[in-house]
Amino acid sequence: MMVLSEIIRCEEDFNGWRETGGIKWKLVKANRNWQIQVICPRCGKMGNLIRANSRNRVGYRVLHGGGTGCHFGWTQEEFDTLDAIYRSVRGRRF
Ligand SMILES: [Zn+2]
Repeated sequence: MMVLSEIIRCEEDFNGWRETGGIKWKLVKANRNWQIQVICPRCGKMGNLIRANSRNRVGYRVLHGGGTGCHFGWTQEEFDTLDAIYRSVRGRRF
């Protein structure tokens, strides 16, 4: 927990990108909520990382705006990294 809060404070102060498992990401405050912005490992565009569960399968989606986005199911290579990023942020309440 200590380590995570340090990471988050660092993001907030310097607006810098972090890298986890080769995927670049940062936290962006939108209204009063934090969004996780990532450089999409599939198409290289920036987007918001959201959870996208279908039935009981966990997945993640990178929203690129305009109704487009990339989906990463749990069988995909990038899933573990996206999961780690998401959990490191959402595991703590804002
Ligand atoms: Zn994409």
